[in-house]
Amino acid sequence: MTGVSGLQVTFGQRRVLDGLDLEFAPGAVTAVVGSSGAGKSTLLRCVNLLERPQAGFITIGDLRVDTTRATAREIRELRRRTAMVFQQFHLFARKTATENVAEGLRVVRGIDRRDAERLALEHLDRVGLAAHADQYPSQLSGGQQQRVGIARALAMQPEVLLLDEPTSALDPELVGEVLATIRSIAEQGQTMVLVSHEMHFVRQVAQRIVFLEGGRIIDDAAPAEFFGAAASDRTRGFLREYH
Ligand code: ATP
Ligand code: MG
Repeated sequence: MTGVSGLQVTFGQRRVLDGLDLEFAPGAVTAVVGSSGAGKSTLLRCVNLLERPQAGFITIGDLRVDTTRATAREIRELRRRTAMVFQQFHLFARKTATENVAEGLRVVRGIDRRDAERLALEHLDRVGLAAHADQYPSQLSGGQQQRVGIARALAMQPEVLLLDEPTSALDPELVGEVLATIRSIAEQGQTMVLVSHEMHFVRQVAQRIVFLEGGRIIDDAAPAEFFGAAASDRTRGFLREYH
């Protein structure tokens, strides 16, 4: 099993995740949608313990971590099995595309520079950026920068790839190329948890859509059902706003 169970996060008086149970189907895309403040980013940040919940378990394959008593070794292992693609790319400005992708391989995995850069090139090729390997972020478009971010995450060979609104910082004309990249990675069987407001894309790429509201799962369905007439009133209300 891979996923979270009994996840509870409170900020001050506010219960942001309220005992959340969610399985991430292996080799599939689980999309998480919901209004601003619903707890989507908090959920993703809990999976690699960037956020520390008050209660709950994170399970990635055969690793099951009680988040209230995670050891340093368990946290390291969770982070080794997951990788995050951020809304704001978070690339190193003074490193080339290759160096950005190679960095984690060298620092976290201890791979020597030459091998790390060779692996980095392979992953840049997967996202269609082999020709831009020696360019710096400022020389790349936003869409290309985000594809470097995706290559960097993939290079770590995560069991679960976490994507938090990967296209929402992009100009509209650059969204398509990043979505196409994510789709091709999904088609290669990468387990993903994708937070996105791009409903048309979610509908095409996700096997399952989870609708979060007030820290709870309101709906959890395959796309045909989620976007169909059988969806709950709250889901349909949400979709009216975002379509
Ligand atoms: P968006 O669509 O705007 O990205 P989201 O669904 O990702 O929203 P979260 O970022 O998970 O929402 O935030 C959920 C709630 O928790 C919000 O009310 C937010 O203000 C609050 N919150 C998030 N992080 C913190 C924090 N570190 N301290 C206090 N409150 C926080
Ligand atoms: Mg968010």
